[in-house]
Amino acid sequence: VNQRPNVIDGRAVAALVRDHVADEVQRMEQPPGLATILVGEDPASAIYVRNKRRVCVELGMRDLHRHLPATTRQHELEELVLSLSGDPAVTGILVQLPLPAHLDARAVIQCIHPDKDVDGLTGESVARLASGRAGLRPCTPTGVMRLLDEYDIPVDGTDAVVVGRSDLVGRPMAQMLLERDATVTSCHKGTRDLRAATRRADILIVAAGAPGLIGRDDVKPGVTVIDVGINRVGDRIVGDVEYEAVAPLAHWISPVPGGVGPMTIAMLMANTVDAARLQGTAAPEYA
Ligand code: NAD
Repeated sequence: VNQRPNVIDGRAVAALVRDHVADEVQRMEQPPGLATILVGEDPASAIYVRNKRRVCVELGMRDLHRHLPATTRQHELEELVLSLSGDPAVTGILVQLPLPAHLDARAVIQCIHPDKDVDGLTGESVARLASGRAGLRPCTPTGVMRLLDEYDIPVDGTDAVVVGRSDLVGRPMAQMLLERDATVTSCHKGTRDLRAATRRADILIVAAGAPGLIGRDDVKPGVTVIDVGINRVGDRIVGDVEYEAVAPLAHWISPVPGGVGPMTIAMLMANTVDAARLQGTAAPEYA
């Protein structure tokens, strides 16, 4: 049992990623432009979008934000996204979710050109990931893979368990681990014996949005735990893992806050540079 767990420092890795992106942007003939679209006044969404725009500008990219009223009609939003998709000045398009209830998010997402789909949510992006082809991939699981790689945590041949199967996190996470030759188990609300599954994990990724879901009896000693959960409990932000209880058993563990959270925006910026490359408006990385 490891008494002094190795803590994965997402803030430090995110800073590395951002520095790399800023360098790439400097070397481009023209900076990529990121179009964030916010519909309505949801306060949490407004904060997320503000943070994305701030980092975008900090890294030398163009902030092409659009804020639409909550009353926006489906066809108006789709027309905007289609026009941004066809606009050569726009490199990446991000529709902040959730949309107001009267709007069909899936139909809006489908209007994003796959080469501008920096959230990796269009049908084409999903298909590319599922079949192991290059493309733009969801930022949070990409950030988790980057953390594992940055800390030289081997993936191939491991038993990897993912708790959660959302479109944005759990499902693409499982596919990325599978692509890297892990033996992957996907757990979700319908899983009958969650503990039996998580106790087998060499790598345990938890993205359920359920504080305290994973405790010390749910892991085996030596596990690597990546906690994606972000939950507000009273005035604290906690993950899905009982950090104090699990950390002494873990080989590596990512804290909340300071683990996966900072990686998501950093990978969004990296995706925007990748999008520029896919569109042929930037030099290939190793040219
Ligand atoms: P979601 O609600 O869309 O999906 C949750 C998934 O977890 C579902 O597949 C559900 O079946 C599963 N689940 C829920 N409770 C469970 C339980 N008790 N046992 C087994 N499975 C269970 O959420 P999401 O968008 O995937 O986000 C998951 C968590 O990650 C949330 O806390 C969210 O705030 C956080 N999140 C963090 C980042 C980040 O940047 N770190 C990014 C996105 C989401």
